[in-house]
Amino acid sequence: MRLLVTGGAGFIGSNFVRYVVEKLGWNILVYDKLSYAGRLENLQGVLDKILFIRGDIADEESFKKAVEEFQPDAIVNFAAETHVDRSINEPAPFIWTNILGVFTILEVLRSLKHDILLLHMSTDEVYGDLWGTDRYASEDDPLNPSSPYSASKASGDLLIKAYGRTYGIRYRIMRPSNNYGPYQHPEKLIPRSIIRLIHGKPPVLYGEGSQVRDWLHVEDTARAILTVLEKGSDYEVYNICGGMFATVREVVVKVLKAMEKPEDYIIYGKPRPGEDRRYAMKCNKIRELGWRPLIQLDQGLESTVKWYLENEWWWKGLVDERYVLADAPW
Ligand code: NAD
Repeated sequence: MRLLVTGGAGFIGSNFVRYVVEKLGWNILVYDKLSYAGRLENLQGVLDKILFIRGDIADEESFKKAVEEFQPDAIVNFAAETHVDRSINEPAPFIWTNILGVFTILEVLRSLKHDILLLHMSTDEVYGDLWGTDRYASEDDPLNPSSPYSASKASGDLLIKAYGRTYGIRYRIMRPSNNYGPYQHPEKLIPRSIIRLIHGKPPVLYGEGSQVRDWLHVEDTARAILTVLEKGSDYEVYNICGGMFATVREVVVKVLKAMEKPEDYIIYGKPRPGEDRRYAMKCNKIRELGWRPLIQLDQGLESTVKWYLENEWWWKGLVDERYVLADAPW
């Protein structure tokens, strides 16, 4: 199998590439802009076994050349702007990559004769806030995004579906829940909390941290992507979640415990503007393909804490004061 992995130097992409190279030995070309979130260090250990091109998915000429030369069976698209806080402060890069970038991938596929599958990484955030309901979103629920990030992701999904229907472009869309694990950028909740604690600072939450999320270890996501690639059907959407619900505060308390700190060692900040209070999905469709999460939340958080403690070299240069160490960045 030949996979062109866009955004493969980011958090989920690099974990997926490592998994596929080590377990299956497939041919991989990573195509990545290396934004602030993408680093070759994320691909340590497998860099000499893959091809790498630095490029933007919104650059049609460069992306088309990569596809024509590599001739992939499938494109797995992780390339995205992904941090909700950044999308609130500066939405433009989100429109560029998550909408124009996806549009460019589709245009390149439309212009080529080959029958290449697009396996696209979307998110549970496209369904919007389910707070105050007992609903679990299924794949055909309406999209109701709340942030510039989730709106840009929903736009990408709609473009892909339209290109499938109008031009027959083969796609499979995956919507994973909140991922965590090694190589996640320090600006995100779990690494940020761990790194703050290492610096002797308490984790900071938005509001009371009562937002409900369904937490999934990135290795379980990597296996889910493989499952959809090998057993999924074209023109389908797959929710990916493990039913491991916990509030943001509960997760941070687990991190505090793993780092042997008192569980009230937390700063409560202002609520994030427009923040969704509950995400929840039905994930029976991926389970029918035989996938199950293998990593329980407590176990996954403990191994993640251990990874950050042992890999300071990896995160040390990435600690941006505004997003990681400031006491009240909002
Ligand atoms: P990330 O921010 O860690 O990595 C994104 C990668 O995309 C980086 O390597 C970056 O350099 C690259 N990139 C950005 N813009 C690009 C462009 N224009 N051209 C080429 N490369 C570009 O993101 P992540 O957390 O690994 O998320 C991967 C995908 O999964 C995203 O589509 C995201 O929306 C989705 N997702 C993430 C989560 C999560 O919890 N992390 C949950 C659900 C869905």
